[in-house]
Amino acid sequence: MTKWQTEEKKREQGIPMPPKRRKPPKTYPICSWKRALERIQSQCGPVHIAERHGKGEHKVIFLPEAARELEVMVSYGRRSPMNAKEQKYTGYGHYLMDENGHVTVIVKHLIEIQTMNRSPVSASNLGPNGEYNPGLDFLAYHREEFLRTEDRYNTDAWGHPVDPFLSLCGPSEFVLEGHTHPDLGVFYSRTDQVSGAARAASLPVCIFVCDPIRREMLGSIGRNFEEAEVIVYARDRDFQEQAGVQPASPVEEAIGLASRWIRNSGCAGTVRFRNRMGGRGCLTIKLVLPPPKGSDPTCRRYQKSWAQHTTGDS
Ligand SMILES: [Zn+2]
Repeated sequence: MTKWQTEEKKREQGIPMPPKRRKPPKTYPICSWKRALERIQSQCGPVHIAERHGKGEHKVIFLPEAARELEVMVSYGRRSPMNAKEQKYTGYGHYLMDENGHVTVIVKHLIEIQTMNRSPVSASNLGPNGEYNPGLDFLAYHREEFLRTEDRYNTDAWGHPVDPFLSLCGPSEFVLEGHTHPDLGVFYSRTDQVSGAARAASLPVCIFVCDPIRREMLGSIGRNFEEAEVIVYARDRDFQEQAGVQPASPVEEAIGLASRWIRNSGCAGTVRFRNRMGGRGCLTIKLVLPPPKGSDPTCRRYQKSWAQHTTGDS
């Protein structure tokens, strides 16, 4: 077959598709879980490990703020009107990996997924009649807002970084898919296995179950549900209480004094401290001073109508 014939034949067969471009596999910062704990202990101020659940070479670490968010969101440790039925939430943070390929998931922020048709064993992402649930739009909106400013507002009330991994890992990403098993104990149901495998199809996502009433937690990594130990951090209570009475810096002292004065004086007002670029801070105190007694017409009108209401006059 001549060259010309070969080319003609090729043309008849059609032009082949170009080979699919392969994405390079995603890589993660190398850091063992022990180094991760050291980083938290050394940078986040007075913190301690409050709870540990499960075993496993993989680790799921809740930073103090995420732990507080979880505690409040699921009313951890008691039965509440909202936690008696299943709740769903999604976690943001970072992935670390050690030399042996073990994953450490750092959870820094949780957002509740607004679900419907809730029961103790299910919660639907769809609307009451199976239609689209607009609550999911808010999830995307809140996530974008968080990711846009997480770098700017990464300092806690005591001046420590909220997330000590931000500079090492870069912006947060989706790292955890969680739901509750109210008073049922923690395990992966058949539904959990199917949905979890789909959510962790290509990333070492943590599939997380929490029983808020029995105070149990279960975490695994990836679509094969590889065992993980859950480590929950908390701020030292002594330190929090002490910080309330004895501010740690002149700025905190000024904020504390101004806030207490506003509360005790009966004036309306706000005290705001904002971090500026380059580490500078800006303290703003706004005060609304009351007018002299008897000079406020709004106030008199209110008193009159209240008197009419209570005496039954019209
Ligand atoms: Zn479940």
